[in-house]
Amino acid sequence: MARVYNFSAGPAVLPEEVLQEAAKDMMDYKGCGMSVMEMSHRSKMFQDIIDTATADIRDLMGIPDNYKVLFLQGGASQQFAAVPMNLMKNKVADYIITGQWAKKAAAEAKKYGKVNEVASSADKTFSYIPDCSDLDISPDADYVYICENNTIYGTKFKTLPNTKGKLLVSDVSSCFLSEPIDVSKYGVVYGGVQKNVGPAGVVIDIIREDLITDDVLGGTPTMLKWKTQADNDSLYNTPPCWGIYICGLVFKWIKKMGGLEAMKEHNVKKANILYDYLDESKLFKGTVEKESRSLMNVPFVTGNEELDAKFVKESKAAGFENLKGHRTVGGMRASIYNAMPIEGVEKLVEFMKKFEMENK
Ligand SMILES: *Cc1c(COP(=O)(O)O)cnc(C)c1O
Repeated sequence: MARVYNFSAGPAVLPEEVLQEAAKDMMDYKGCGMSVMEMSHRSKMFQDIIDTATADIRDLMGIPDNYKVLFLQGGASQQFAAVPMNLMKNKVADYIITGQWAKKAAAEAKKYGKVNEVASSADKTFSYIPDCSDLDISPDADYVYICENNTIYGTKFKTLPNTKGKLLVSDVSSCFLSEPIDVSKYGVVYGGVQKNVGPAGVVIDIIREDLITDDVLGGTPTMLKWKTQADNDSLYNTPPCWGIYICGLVFKWIKKMGGLEAMKEHNVKKANILYDYLDESKLFKGTVEKESRSLMNVPFVTGNEELDAKFVKESKAAGFENLKGHRTVGGMRASIYNAMPIEGVEKLVEFMKKFEMENK
């Protein structure tokens, strides 16, 4: 069995222990004679899986009792519409534009109401997080929206914006469970799981209960109304059963690793190995302002497109997969999510040093 070091931004690397456990249970999950893919979502067996997953993510993130956890489909992109549909009572929202995903979310919200772009880092190709301590928040805004970790550009909010009392909605797709967060500071936290938590096909919403109501925009589809999903504990229709099961295994793995504090420590250590080298290298350069650097996604360039292409090609041949940068940015990007072992980053840096020597 040859596993590569997989630096994909998503779908991304999963913990080997989780894959092994899923493989072990593939033909016969806990003596029931079938796999999780084959069982009824109304069975006791599956109810236990989703109940345990819910309890474990609550425990890991310290989710307060007045927040609901929903396992949904349609990816993070579907929530770009669900957020305004469920929250735009005044039909006004403030968006902070720190990259493609925030831009897409804002564009979707514009279909339903007035969107104010209260801050943006577009002026420097999204290479930093703008100062959000004193923004011109709209008095009638229904919420303030951020993309907390910008997967494509490699930036992360280190402090949350001052929303001046307005509800904060955050897309945490690419930093989900990478470090502790204070859920009580948010109205809604949501993320697609395929970056750091599980297989594609599941999006997890953590929503303050008072925001889950029948008072949604006219024409909101039944499936996109959070109350439909909340009233049915994510089982209104057939949920992504297999994906939820794998997320549950990942939650157990994170608990075993020591929880989110330990995860953060592990992620800081890993990211520093790479950033320290980028800071000293004469060939490679990080593209993000230091204070805004993500622990999860690390973009870098040589400054020469041909050399970038050569690096991507040679790194692949050496067993480092998916280091090519996003098609809109170019260069390279190493996504080093929870499941990327330290050795993966150490070996990558060794390889980069060798490449630098050979291409001086
Ligand atoms: C990947 C990503 C998305 C899109 O996720 P889908 O599940 O493909 O819709 C949205 N936001 C962020 C921050 C992402 O990284």
